[in-house]
Amino acid sequence: MTTMYYEADADPALITRRKVAVLGFGSQGHAHALNLKDSGVDVVVGLRDGSPRVRAASDAGLKVVDPATAVAWADVIMVLVPDQVQPQVYEEIIRPNLSPGDALFFAHGFSIHFGFITPPPDIDVVMVAPKGPGHLVRRQYVEGSGVPTLLAVHQDATGDAQPLGLSYAHGIGGTRGGVIETTFDAETETDLFGEQVILCGGTDALVQAAFETLTEAGYAPEMAYFEVLHELKLIVDLMWEGGIEWMRHSISDTAEYGDVTRGPRIVTSETKAEMKKILGEIQSGEFAREWMAEYANGAPRLKAAREAIAEHPVETTGRELRDMMTFLVPKRPSDDV
Ligand code: NAD
Ligand code: MG
Repeated sequence: MTTMYYEADADPALITRRKVAVLGFGSQGHAHALNLKDSGVDVVVGLRDGSPRVRAASDAGLKVVDPATAVAWADVIMVLVPDQVQPQVYEEIIRPNLSPGDALFFAHGFSIHFGFITPPPDIDVVMVAPKGPGHLVRRQYVEGSGVPTLLAVHQDATGDAQPLGLSYAHGIGGTRGGVIETTFDAETETDLFGEQVILCGGTDALVQAAFETLTEAGYAPEMAYFEVLHELKLIVDLMWEGGIEWMRHSISDTAEYGDVTRGPRIVTSETKAEMKKILGEIQSGEFAREWMAEYANGAPRLKAAREAIAEHPVETTGRELRDMMTFLVPKRPSDDV
């Protein structure tokens, strides 16, 4: 069994004795900074002058300074700017302001594992990676629970890197959900694989194909939306609570028979072979190089895909239906600077 760490395994004082800079105030940044502050940690947020996020961070009661000042002041620096800009931020802002014995923290192993950043040997390099979106990391902390979190030490210059990382995980609520110790290599590769084949890529593609199949056959788009997107959450919630067995127990026998006989026709041995190919592209670094080149080139594929999905009927239908659902506050990217 993998070693798991919970509340009692962490020393909360290790991180409260340090000065923490959180660089970036996006999905993860806002959650880490606010959770640490509420846990009594001395934290500042590093943001560029004129960043649209300065206002949100100071309105939330956080101290905001420019990134270089934040790094120079802090002795723990959590890098929560997008992966693709981390190498530049590291070269221009972090490296010139690092002192021996500082700790450089990441929430994903991408930059270190693929060699885009190589910190000097006298710095602790640690990953504390919540296994969930930042908005949930904040919400669950406030509610008293916590998102399960991965901990990894890439470089232990001080001899204290691991307990310091665990203390940080405690500060953001991760030890409530459970902390698994892993490596930068395993975290990076499994994280990219998960988001590509199932959590994001696989599920998005399945939802779109199923919606198109129903509407092309003449069924109402509203019905198709409820069937293939809205209800997906209800089913996934059951799997989250009690695994596949509990979900199958909860659905009708008819649904269960359809599940076991038709599911393997949707995800076939060919699909699994493609998954293995995708994992190979991740392990070889091919995906990382492709993504960094795409970003350097102005991210044309990403931008085109964002425009295309906004106009897809599953999205236009969904926006209208969600506006009528009094039990949820509809979310749009434009509301979330
Ligand atoms: P994000 O895009 O939501 O936020 C990035 C933040 O960085 C924003 O505040 C932005 O204003 C700021 N920023 C952008 N460019 C900058 C620059 N050049 N200099 C300074 N600040 C800049 O990012 P995110 O999704 O929170 O990802 C941050 C890290 O967390 C990544 O390593 C990511 O892999 C990891 N992570 C994210 C999630 C998630 O839920 N999104 C989950 C686990 C791990
Ligand atoms: Mg992930």
